Amino acid sequence: MKVYSCESHIDHALDMFVAETKEFPIMDKLPDGEKLSTKCSYCEEHATYIVSSK
Ligand SMILES: [Zn+2]
Repeated sequence: MKVYSCESHIDHALDMFVAETKEFPIMDKLPDGEKLSTKCSYCEEHATYIVSSK
């Protein structure tokens, strides 16, 4: 599972990730090249972070 998040939804994204996967979330900044083509999972902003496990 991967969750994309903007600056304002990163706390929410981490909470949701843990609730759904029961795994420890790893947060990374999206590479600049992917920012403009990737939307936050919770709003219409461009994503800044990607949350995944391992
Ligand atoms: Zn957002």
